[in-house]
Amino acid sequence: MLKYHSPGSRYSYFPSVSYWKNSVSQNGLISHLQKSYNPKQGIDLYIHIPFCESLCTFCGCNIKITKNHKEGISYVDSLEKEWNFFKENITDQEPKISSVYLGGGTPTFLSEKSLAKLFSFLFPNGPQKLKEGTVEIDPRFVTLEKLKLFKKYGIKRISIGVQDLDIDVLENVNRKQSKEKLVKVVDLAKDLDFEEIAFDLIYGLPFQSVSSLEKTFEYLLELSPDLIAFYSLANVPWQKKGQKAFGNFSPPGLEDKFALYLKGKQLLESKNYYHPGMGFFIKPEGRLGKAFEEKSLKRNMMGIYSGKSNFLLGLGVSAMSQVNDVYFQNERILEKYIFEIDKKSFAIWRNHKQSNKENITQNIYEDLIAGHNCKLPKSLIKDLPSIENWFHSFQKDEILEGSLNSFKVTKKGKDYLKNIYQTLDHHKASYI
Ligand code: SF4
Repeated sequence: MLKYHSPGSRYSYFPSVSYWKNSVSQNGLISHLQKSYNPKQGIDLYIHIPFCESLCTFCGCNIKITKNHKEGISYVDSLEKEWNFFKENITDQEPKISSVYLGGGTPTFLSEKSLAKLFSFLFPNGPQKLKEGTVEIDPRFVTLEKLKLFKKYGIKRISIGVQDLDIDVLENVNRKQSKEKLVKVVDLAKDLDFEEIAFDLIYGLPFQSVSSLEKTFEYLLELSPDLIAFYSLANVPWQKKGQKAFGNFSPPGLEDKFALYLKGKQLLESKNYYHPGMGFFIKPEGRLGKAFEEKSLKRNMMGIYSGKSNFLLGLGVSAMSQVNDVYFQNERILEKYIFEIDKKSFAIWRNHKQSNKENITQNIYEDLIAGHNCKLPKSLIKDLPSIENWFHSFQKDEILEGSLNSFKVTKKGKDYLKNIYQTLDHHKASYI
């Protein structure tokens, strides 16, 4: 259904930053963190490492291109200061870290020494068992020693940015990456017994065709990843100047892009991968598949998991946090982040306390991806003037089933979860 295949937010948090109100004072935020911290549940930590050696021109992340690996050393010093600030302000004791997510950029841009330093200040009493642990890996920049370090500190998921395997597609976006290197990293990760291997893939890149994508999938599926995140290219050259380098080679139009998605999905489903929605495809064996069956999958700003806490703390430039109903985000400019950390040991730029309605909406979003039945409360219905028309249209197209009092997403509807999210976004209701 091409009509539903539209660009838009991925709704991994709600509301989007353009609706954030910055209404929480610094003291209010600290006291919220203290009250919210539960030593049994612990903290989920996201750590942003912004460095990459070269620019992939499709990239939408907050990054700095540099070959100077010394930058990583001083950056880890800033992370340590920031973590110490939060630690000292959250609790008198060493806080429990229940999950770690290293994202970027390229976390493996950091040297083994810097990564070891990072883990040693996070875990001063030595490695501990984590509920979740993920590191984003660029297959071009990882060593056996770094992988061993991740394993030692409880990382479970190796999330490999593959994007595509076709040489023309990759060269056009300035990503020089070989299949051999990818296979080597996967073999090493399997030898080290990481619990999950995940691949990130993008559809909608210039030069991608249904047949090139088919070859990419055939090759990758042989490697039997546990999770594939199959995302649409976010084509936003007005925000990400590197994308202007697409220049001569425009990305495919909507129809061709939809055909790419359908082909990828068909190949994944032919190997029995489940699709809970939002482009995540899960192998049925393993804990994600089990969580899918049990309707206990959780989604946060970093992806999907079988568990999460309500205390997600982001460290590093542009990192986002969500602690119960309060969001906050760090400075987005690296130099400013470092300056603020040097000056006052934290670098929060903006924040938002969710309203009751926003909180309910976010819970509905999470329940829908987990496969639960949902109810739309009257307080929300009144802010969604066209909701009944939309609901009927989704029913007619077999995307939703039930009534506004108890509805759930159909198997077919998982492809259109984003459209359902958009429709339930009361901030955008005036545009529906
Ligand atoms: S896609 Fe990944 S490796 Fe490429 S520039 Fe972006 S963050 Fe860096």
